[in-house]
Amino acid sequence: MAGIMPRRLDLIPLPASIQWLGGSELPIAIGSSPVCRETLTEEGFAPEGYALRITCEGASVKASTALGLAHGRQTWLQLVAQAEREGNGLPNIVIEDEPRFPWRGGHLDVCRHFFPLETVKRYIDWLAWYKFNVFHWHLTEDQGWRLEIEKYPRLTEIGAWRDDGDGGRYGGFYTQDEVREIVSYAAERNITVVPEIELPGHAMAALAAYPDLGCAGREIQVETSWGIFEDVFCPGKERVFAFFEGVLDEVCAIFPSVYIHIGGDECPKTAWNACPDCQKRMADEGLGDAEELQSYVVRRVESYLLGRGRRLIGWDEILEGGLAPEATVMSWRGEEGGITATRAGHDVIMCPNSHCYLDHKQIDDPNETVGQPDEVCTLANAYSYEPLPKGLEGVNEARILGSQANIWTEYIRDTRELEYAAFPRLCALAEVFWSPSGKRDLESLRKRLAGHVSMLENDGVRCCKKDL
Ligand SMILES: [Zn+2]
Repeated sequence: MAGIMPRRLDLIPLPASIQWLGGSELPIAIGSSPVCRETLTEEGFAPEGYALRITCEGASVKASTALGLAHGRQTWLQLVAQAEREGNGLPNIVIEDEPRFPWRGGHLDVCRHFFPLETVKRYIDWLAWYKFNVFHWHLTEDQGWRLEIEKYPRLTEIGAWRDDGDGGRYGGFYTQDEVREIVSYAAERNITVVPEIELPGHAMAALAAYPDLGCAGREIQVETSWGIFEDVFCPGKERVFAFFEGVLDEVCAIFPSVYIHIGGDECPKTAWNACPDCQKRMADEGLGDAEELQSYVVRRVESYLLGRGRRLIGWDEILEGGLAPEATVMSWRGEEGGITATRAGHDVIMCPNSHCYLDHKQIDDPNETVGQPDEVCTLANAYSYEPLPKGLEGVNEARILGSQANIWTEYIRDTRELEYAAFPRLCALAEVFWSPSGKRDLESLRKRLAGHVSMLENDGVRCCKKDL
């Protein structure tokens, strides 16, 4: 070793290990970066692992998979970007790296507010840059159905639009061609798109389009306010399951993802308890209460998806009334649902709203207008998140597939506000999901973000700097 003093590298997420070598730096010239040679090898890297070596002679990345090479390339690009910014060369280092968790998700709600295709692509770019590998796309809601379904055209003719309160209408949707474009755009960046089709609740936009899918069949409007609503799909009617299957057939044809998210959260049971069809279903199926009827819905949909070679994910409410046999659970109301599901032998993705909801305000300030008005998640809070909860002793921790950043958009109205909500907390969560837990250091993150945020801003990204 030549005794080179390691200098600060802004890498986000931090790699598992950096070894500093001696020797002179690899020079770079703006606009003509040196090439990083990529080699696929059978050397036995972890599935997403890679090794990146930089000396004054040149740079190379090795991995056993294309995915590993891609991650190594991202690390290289981040190093080059920092060197260009600071006017330095590249240090002589060896980075050996692999992710801590196989599921590193970023979620976006395009229903409460609609985001154009270009914004969705930018969001995917960010996810790729920070080594996420899942884009969870929340496509249906009370306030808007955003996915074209050819068999049910009214879903987007009616369900994609709501009264904007000013005599106009607000909304939008993606055609199947546009969605395919997003799926392949994401795939080119090694990101799987997991679609979410909400059932049996959060269904008002669908019911506005097709009222006879509800219990009473009453005419309703696409919802314009935020909350939980009692008009939900009626599981007493066979045509509702035919509808689910028709929609899921097209979803499966568009999205190659093994996982299909069916929501399952926040479904009031008021209408079911007053509906003769639902009551008859419960009697016929021997279901003790409406919670078990919800479980019946999820099991039946899961069985349909399994028959098509897909796996069901739902929010942790799908535990209520009994979990479907193969279901994967997304634990959002704290950690309890995730712990319970893990103990029952199910796979789990942890995204408690206490730490992983980037639609919460970033600072506790009543003048802050971006984000849920009554919820705060600071950078430090997001960064303190530990995806492996306490209380898993004796349980297979590998059941925790990973974790996810969720961005709901009731209070995020456009692309600029989305950027502001995401940055810099998305960086903090990227590190939580990828880097070894022992590397966690808030002061180091703040220092690295200082340079990093300036780079994002140079790219035109609006960042929140009030908490840096
Ligand atoms: Zn009903």
